Amino acid sequence: MSMSPSLPTVPILARLLLGSNLGDRAGLLAAARQVLAATAGDIVAQSGLYETAAWGLESQPAFLNQALTVSTWLRPEALLDACQAAEQHAGRQRLEHWGQRTLDVDILFYGSHVIQSPRLTVPHPRLPERRFALVPLAEIARAVRHPQLGLRVRDLLLHCPDPLAVEPWKGPA
Ligand code: AMP
Repeated sequence: MSMSPSLPTVPILARLLLGSNLGDRAGLLAAARQVLAATAGDIVAQSGLYETAAWGLESQPAFLNQALTVSTWLRPEALLDACQAAEQHAGRQRLEHWGQRTLDVDILFYGSHVIQSPRLTVPHPRLPERRFALVPLAEIARAVRHPQLGLRVRDLLLHCPDPLAVEPWKGPA
């Protein structure tokens, strides 16, 4: 574990969370996977799609969320650049904080590194309180340990206080 890894000497397994609640949500997630595979690294695991009531502002459309494991050679800030480029590619417009968005890409874990920089906090600080992140992440990384809390993802999920329902997506209505 280190504060800010230099160039990785082995690929890092980064866990990302994709989210969309505007437009063709499943299509936007598929496009994001393509962009990330081309820019960030091989997608070695992906969860199913989950539909989640919007967090923060509950009157807006539901989100589709998906967790990915990306095997990456990028440093954390370069990985964040790739995530933000994928958001831009999706034509992301930020109408309000926690508002509707075509695509949001968060870095949940970067291997077991703990990173605190002006642009990046990893592990993602709100992961333990967000069922919409923990449910898809648990599908692909149940036994992975949170490097600060020492708990596995499955245990974070057991202790998560978030009451919002997270359901497997049944496809377009
Ligand atoms: P959001 O509204 O969740 O898309 O927040 C985007 C901002 O969060 C960006 O300016 C990032 O620099 C910052 N940020 C801090 N930590 C993270 C993280 N772990 N993953 C993604 N963005 C992060």
